[in-house]
Amino acid sequence: MKNSEEARELISKGLCPVCKSKLSHSEGCIECESCGWSECEEA
Ligand SMILES: [Zn+2]
Repeated sequence: MKNSEEARELISKGLCPVCKSKLSHSEGCIECESCGWSECEEA
């Protein structure tokens, strides 16, 4: 998935860019428990 500005904004608010559910953070990655979307920060 490409990261559009809108997606970035949702992520910064802690919301999934796909389903807008609350994201959970773990070990440098963020993931959505609802739809399985996830993204890891690149060091
Ligand atoms: Zn989701």
